[in-house]
Amino acid sequence: MSDLLLSAEPAPEVLAAFEEATGFMPVDEGLALYAAAVEAARTTGLPVLEIGTYCGRSAILLAAAAVEAGTVALTVDHHRGSEEQQPGWEYHDPTLVDPEVGLMDTLPRFRRALHAAGLEEHVVALVGRSPRIAALWGRPLGLVFIDGGHTDEHATGDYEGWVPHLAPEGLLVVHDVFPDPADGGQAPYRVYLRALAEGFEEVSVTGSLRVLRRSAR
Ligand code: SAH
Ligand code: MG
Repeated sequence: MSDLLLSAEPAPEVLAAFEEATGFMPVDEGLALYAAAVEAARTTGLPVLEIGTYCGRSAILLAAAAVEAGTVALTVDHHRGSEEQQPGWEYHDPTLVDPEVGLMDTLPRFRRALHAAGLEEHVVALVGRSPRIAALWGRPLGLVFIDGGHTDEHATGDYEGWVPHLAPEGLLVVHDVFPDPADGGQAPYRVYLRALAEGFEEVSVTGSLRVLRRSAR
């Protein structure tokens, strides 16, 4: 395992915008994500893609990393929230419900966050279900960050849909990897184990964030 290359740090104003944004990523994991995205984008010159935009917290870092490498960040979400974010569930935020429609809508908060960060121009938001967009996708990606739905169906769908678009030297990042079931759901962990079994090597571990690279062998 080597994290020597993953050392880029975001500008203070980017970090401040990240910390200001609504979302689920602690700072140490965000720094690791940023460093991975800078490296992947610089190495490949290709866009970086996130599954799970939510309110744009991690997308701010991906966009800033894309700027560093002269590329763009793509972020996929239907913006209706995951299972555990629905009313009555543990991660529900009632301020994110569209009162007219009566459903979650994280798109407005995402747009405000990217605007406030001054990074709107560097992000392309893909609004829809991850497997549907993945099935239409036809371009190589420098980094795939899986942080969408946490059921096996969704996490596996994200892996199977997007990893085929990852460039050979690209990086795969998985969030919410909890080897101990007491710490959280196991679907992202199972995706991580599958990636290791299918030829990815671990580059870095930060909290529940795993950075992986396809093995050269
Ligand atoms: N990356 C965010 C957190 C993402 S939360 C942060 O840094 O804070 C997970 C998001 O995945 C939710 O917004 C949910 O709407 C989205 N999601 C879940 N399943 C999805 C699917 N199948 N397709 C698209 N988006 C999905
Ligand atoms: Mg997450």
